[in-house]
Amino acid sequence: MSGNENISSPTRTKAIIQRYKFSFKKSLGQNFLIDQNILDKIVDAAGLDSTAGALEIGPGIGALTERLAMTAGAVTAVEIDRRLIPILRDVLSPYSHVKIRNDDVLKVNLQELFAEDFAGMDRVSVVANLPYYVTTPILMKLLEEKLPLDNIVVMIQKEVAERMAASPGGKEYGSLSIAVQYYSEPELVCMVPRTVFIPQPNVESAVIRLKVRERPPVEVADEKHFFGVVQASFTQRRKTIANNLKARFFPEEGRERLEALLAEAGIEPSRRGETLSIEEYARLSAVLLAAGIE
Ligand code: SAM
Repeated sequence: MSGNENISSPTRTKAIIQRYKFSFKKSLGQNFLIDQNILDKIVDAAGLDSTAGALEIGPGIGALTERLAMTAGAVTAVEIDRRLIPILRDVLSPYSHVKIRNDDVLKVNLQELFAEDFAGMDRVSVVANLPYYVTTPILMKLLEEKLPLDNIVVMIQKEVAERMAASPGGKEYGSLSIAVQYYSEPELVCMVPRTVFIPQPNVESAVIRLKVRERPPVEVADEKHFFGVVQASFTQRRKTIANNLKARFFPEEGRERLEALLAEAGIEPSRRGETLSIEEYARLSAVLLAAGIE
């Protein structure tokens, strides 16, 4: 086995897979990275050093974990697939500051994990090549729990990355863009071809960096209400904001009251949800809330 090469080199990856007789599980989104340049771009985008902690979700056989171990002060990797744990413990044995946890990240108490694993660190980043079948639930969990996070650098499906970073007015802009931008400032780092993985996924990928905000860009009194208004406004994308809101909040009434409230929020009823900025949604939610519409 070519033990001196990086884990991500194609020959070392193949050797590890053969030695442990590992078989890929498509249902767990297992596509392992075999490209050193892409790994460097991911790790560089997180801006790590020995004072920073890194949480990796889904380490696979450790290609990215190894790069994180060379850069960060403490690394925790959460992997759901029990079969990968002995492999990870073996290939990452040179790094005493790497902790492997066998768990489903969606079920882990992250506040406790942060307190236990990153106590001595100045800041923490999440860095991952995410399993694509659960990208959005994982990212929303990380953002909604308001963890003490500096940034999140993840490889995800290209279309999802574009939706997260989209500005008002385009067809990619929707409730996901608003949710992600409420908690963070997204920035596309690079596009990634299928050829850098084994096995190759069916979709194109992108690396996105979410700089976590200290506070939201708008003042929102009731976040649940705000996101409910956003969700309702995109129920049918072809419909106007007035029609979508009417269906959700005023099913039995005429349009007068709704139009008066939209006017109070400074929003033309004929506009569509995809044209409203996050500030306009915040204003709309505040006006509806003040009128007792929940
Ligand atoms: N980081 C490795 C790499 O870049 O080569 C592997 C990335 S692979 C796209 C995604 C990994 O996430 C797999 O190892 C998979 O088993 C793991 N995974 C899938 N669902 C998970 C979950 N809910 N919690 C933790 N890990 C998960």
